[in-house]
Amino acid sequence: MLNKIEHLGIAVKDLQASNKVFADLLGVLPYKEEEVASEHVLTSFFQIGESKIELLQATSPESAIAKFLEKNKEGIHHIAFDVSDIYAEIERLVGLGYQMIHEQPKDGADNKLIAFLHPKSTNGVLIELCQEK
Ligand code: ZN
Repeated sequence: MLNKIEHLGIAVKDLQASNKVFADLLGVLPYKEEEVASEHVLTSFFQIGESKIELLQATSPESAIAKFLEKNKEGIHHIAFDVSDIYAEIERLVGLGYQMIHEQPKDGADNKLIAFLHPKSTNGVLIELCQEK
C-alpha cells in the first residue's frame, strides 16, 4: 500500500545554491545532507510539516541526475511514495505489468530502502517507492 507522498526529488546543478533558495522559501535549514555513493548524488532534505523535499546534485557524469540535467532544466525529478512493505509493493506492481528499475530494493538516502519504477511504465513520471528502515 502506498501511504503518502514521502518527498519530492528535485534535480539541481548546485546543491549549496539551491539549499539557500529552499531555506529562504521554507524558513528551515536542511535537516540532512548525505552523499549516496552508489547513485553518484549528493542530497539534502528539507521538511515542513509532513512534507519533504529532496535536492539532488550529481557527483559524476554517470549519475542519473547528470543525465536528467543534460535533457531537462533543473526541476522536479521524481515523486517518492512511502510504502509499508516495499517487497510486497514491488511484487504487486510487477504483477500488474509495471517495469521496475530496481526489482530488489536498495539503500537510499535518509535511512530508506528504495526502488524506482521505470518511467516508461508510468507515462514518463519517475516514481520512487521508499520504506523507512
Ligand atoms: Zn528520492
